[in-house]
Amino acid sequence: MDLDRIKKEYQNCKCGRAHEFTTKVIKCESGLVKRVGKELKEAGFPRKILFMADKNTLRAANGILESLDGFEIEEKIYDDLRVADMRNVLDIENIIQNVDGVLACGTGSLHDTARLACARQNKPLCLFATSPSMDGFASNGAPITDGNFKSTILAKCPEVILADNEILAKSPAELKSAGFGDMIGKYVGLIDWEVSTLLSGEYWCDKVAGLTRQATDDIFALCDKVTLEDERTAGEIFEALLKTGIGMSFTKTSRPASGTEHILSHFWECKKLLEGKISDFHGKKVGVATLLIMKEYEKLAEMESVSAHLEKVDWEEVKSVYGPLYPEVEKLNFPVNIVDGITPEKINENWSEIRRIVKSVPSYAEIKDAMVRAGCAIETRDIDVSDELRELGLGFHPYMRARLSLYRLRGMIY
Ligand SMILES: [Zn+2]
Ligand SMILES: [Zn+2]
Repeated sequence: MDLDRIKKEYQNCKCGRAHEFTTKVIKCESGLVKRVGKELKEAGFPRKILFMADKNTLRAANGILESLDGFEIEEKIYDDLRVADMRNVLDIENIIQNVDGVLACGTGSLHDTARLACARQNKPLCLFATSPSMDGFASNGAPITDGNFKSTILAKCPEVILADNEILAKSPAELKSAGFGDMIGKYVGLIDWEVSTLLSGEYWCDKVAGLTRQATDDIFALCDKVTLEDERTAGEIFEALLKTGIGMSFTKTSRPASGTEHILSHFWECKKLLEGKISDFHGKKVGVATLLIMKEYEKLAEMESVSAHLEKVDWEEVKSVYGPLYPEVEKLNFPVNIVDGITPEKINENWSEIRRIVKSVPSYAEIKDAMVRAGCAIETRDIDVSDELRELGLGFHPYMRARLSLYRLRGMIY
């Protein structure tokens, strides 16, 4: 990936926001695992580091520790870290008091934990990716659960991102398909972002939206190859995942990479955590959520016109659905609510444009077909979400984030 070219291309953007991306080195090459130490030295990374991994990712990155000749290493090896919780972040913050940098070997939860701990303690971070399973590698935010409530917290971009195509290609097919599911969700994310800009005047950048769109289309075209053990495909998927992360860093919001499908996935995750259950892989859930949302968006777009009204919400019902999580939800909706400035007239007047936006991405049928070919989970039962939980999610997820989506507007249309 030509990082300097991308950074240069996004300088002085017409949108007016400075598109900064602080990652200095991104390398994705076959056999790189044996050169991690050398790459870190070349990048000027400190020698006294914490090495984080779990047993699976350590096995996948066979040879990484041997490559760290000349480094003074503390190790934190989890059995299997599936949830990035604030307790893990605090734990890592404690450990890194004694080191000068962190090398986190894995994906998802492990990286999110490292990203926030390093941001809070101002330590340099290198992510070594073992699977193209999600798109957070280059992002500056970290989705973290705290008291079972999940929110995305501003963290930092890693200084160095490394991956070995051979390892990415050999990673479990389930994880590679999950990466595809995370990416396919961007089509919903782009609809939500554009609709919000149209109705609320929210910040928008054509170029960054274009970067996400291109990366998503690129992955979409690779659907038949996702599950193959093919180094080139794995590298291309990884690059697309990096691009949407860079988009988030450029805009300093997660808008370019996540819409209501991510919120729905977070809802299921939080509800399951309340029952002490760990949910399925992030991208796997996001893919299933994307299909449910696209189906609904197409249904909405079939209406030639609407007669919107003020939002109708039974907050007592919301309270009973969220249970112990409700205080967090309340803060996100009172006293200021995300639909406050959206008048029914605004929706009515802009309806044809909203329909155009929905139709600007591939259809539900096309997305589903690509997901089947990419080996993705399709139904909620594939991700261990019951029919009841699916419906609760569809009905109530929009309230757990102060972010305007087309889905949230359903409460002003039906
Ligand atoms: Zn811009
Ligand atoms: Zn995601």
